[in-house]
Amino acid sequence: MSYRGAKSGVVNDLVLLDGSGEQEIVEALAARHRADEIYTYIGEVLLVVNPYRLISGLYGSSKIRSYVSKKLYERPPHVYGIAEMAYRSMMLNTSNECVIITGESGAGKTEASKTVMEYVAAMASKSKQVQHIKDELLQTNPLLEAFGNAKTRRNDNSSRFGKYFAINFLYGDPSGGSISTYLLEKTRVTHQQEGERNFHIFYQLLSDSRRRGDFKLSGSPGDYNFFGDPGAAKVRSIDDARDFSETTRAMDFIGMGGDEQNAIFAILAAILHLGNVEFESRGRDASDIVNARAVSEAASLLGVNERDLSTALTHRTVKSGTESVRTSLSAEKAAFARDSLAKSLYGRLFDHIVARCNETIHTEQFSTCIGVLDIYGFEILGVNGFEQLCINYTNEKLHALFIELTLKGEQAEYKRENISWVPVEFFDNTPIVELVDRRGGLFSLIDEQSIFPQATDATLFQKFQSNIRARELSVPRGAAPGEFEIRHYAGTVLYNTEGMLEANKDTLFPDLVLVVYHTARNPIAKDLFADHPAVDAGRKTNKRPPTTCMQYKKSVADLMDTLRSNNQHYIRCIKPNESKRAGMFEGDMVITQVRYLGIAENLIVRRAGYAFRMTYDEFAAKFKCAVAGTDRWEPNTRKATEDILRKGGVKHYELGRTKVFIKDAKDLLRIEDARRNFL
Ligand code: ADP
Ligand code: MG
Repeated sequence: MSYRGAKSGVVNDLVLLDGSGEQEIVEALAARHRADEIYTYIGEVLLVVNPYRLISGLYGSSKIRSYVSKKLYERPPHVYGIAEMAYRSMMLNTSNECVIITGESGAGKTEASKTVMEYVAAMASKSKQVQHIKDELLQTNPLLEAFGNAKTRRNDNSSRFGKYFAINFLYGDPSGGSISTYLLEKTRVTHQQEGERNFHIFYQLLSDSRRRGDFKLSGSPGDYNFFGDPGAAKVRSIDDARDFSETTRAMDFIGMGGDEQNAIFAILAAILHLGNVEFESRGRDASDIVNARAVSEAASLLGVNERDLSTALTHRTVKSGTESVRTSLSAEKAAFARDSLAKSLYGRLFDHIVARCNETIHTEQFSTCIGVLDIYGFEILGVNGFEQLCINYTNEKLHALFIELTLKGEQAEYKRENISWVPVEFFDNTPIVELVDRRGGLFSLIDEQSIFPQATDATLFQKFQSNIRARELSVPRGAAPGEFEIRHYAGTVLYNTEGMLEANKDTLFPDLVLVVYHTARNPIAKDLFADHPAVDAGRKTNKRPPTTCMQYKKSVADLMDTLRSNNQHYIRCIKPNESKRAGMFEGDMVITQVRYLGIAENLIVRRAGYAFRMTYDEFAAKFKCAVAGTDRWEPNTRKATEDILRKGGVKHYELGRTKVFIKDAKDLLRIEDARRNFL
């Protein structure tokens, strides 16, 4: 844990810092950021401050080699250090490991997750077969990014889904893996805020003139209704044409043949054409399609009959008993049906791609795994709806887990080593988690209301108000109808009930499902709806399809179980400014993140106990030269350690069963300096 080693002159590990206040932490991070030291430890947790520019010499194979078989404190803080720790622990203990990466949008989570993967891949042997598996694993990344990432105002390459990527190992070599994804932001397919783009893949497709010709697409972003802000289409940091060839190369690698790729791109093109379909009212409750050409292009790309598609877009069949009645849709409802179809097609296409990746990388042959969690961070937008509620709920769960495990881990270690310890008070966020997911909580009320045909966002809001009594939820003064506040651990968020029911139900009228499922000649499009409840309905299953809430709660619970059963390693990313600029560090912004990432608490726990611990063997080997008269050979390392500490004037330490624990980091700095002077 070198003190003078850092260019900034600021400690590599905040545990060694003089103070523990948020301000001191921020100043330390700022000084390190100025010196391009973007990585900092708190014990075994890695903090990353996004530099917004590639720092030369920080990555690559020789850098990787310098971390191999090294202990965390022996090398400057790095993602490689964390990856090494995870890999070594897996090899030594035959255990499963996971790296949990958190931070807000644009903080650098996805880049950090790629760096972990890069390290882990580099550990593998050089055999051809292992090389191939490694490539397959790595190639899923550009593919999922093309379909799941988009330019937002906060990040040009923002992941719009959560991802847990488990890499399987057999005798230390990757043998395969599996990917779980969480809640893709489907609303982006039809709507984006100003300055934001749709998913990357649409622009990639449009950059290819041959495909444009095949699918009757124009190259001008202004021609598509599903590009809410055509002015945002061109992004300086993105080369869509180059990325498109990377995407197709990845598809080749995953084993998607030319026909499959064609079918996938045709669906994307169909979605763009669908977006241009507009409706005009006929009377109060009926509508006509204005631009037949757009429907006809969409129909031909999906391989369905144009008339069938038009009818399904403007009508709806309702079953009552054994009779079905077809009613026509108003222009507004028809537009809703169109958007639902587009979102469903895209969401299911994304799932198809994830499933294909999983087929390719799946293996039965593995003994251990390392998982990397790259999930959307805590989010406060202008308007916060159902998706933000889900995202922030996930972050509450992760935070609860972090508290539980860092505390528990620390306590367990003291117990194992027979060291006395006084528990630390913590901000307990379980009431907020429960507010959302307990029986009678927000999710279950949303679900309950989703069953009633008469329920509206307004009745849902009333339910919230009359059923929930919690300090963490309130309706602020002057709030618009439907607005309520939740006091999250990371800050107060104002939510709007509007659209929550619909987002939860995720309605797609059966008419559209059935047209695509029964008649589409596009083979992938047909498959996408094979498990849709509307298709099952014909087979007489009366089960209510699971709502989004239900599915989400279940998948988050499964994720937590997985994380809990592995050895966890943490990377916490910090965003230094809102303008994506290199060399800019806004203290106010950083302090907020330091606060909600619980960094100061993390530091206090680490210190409340013992700032520093090391096994006797390691300690004696490292420090025996530091104190005069202790460098003679002392085979009993516990005795040697005690000797060093006494002669070095260290007062507050405890001798555990296998490790020495030092209370005050300054004591350690003193002997560390003595050691350096000697060397
Ligand atoms: P997140 O996944 O947290 O939303 P990203 O990992 O996509 O954020 O990072 C956003 C952008 O910040 C990247 O596209 C890149 O330009 C920059 N960035 C992030 N981490 C680094 C890094 N370690 N070095 C250089 N640039 C980075
Ligand atoms: Mg990301």
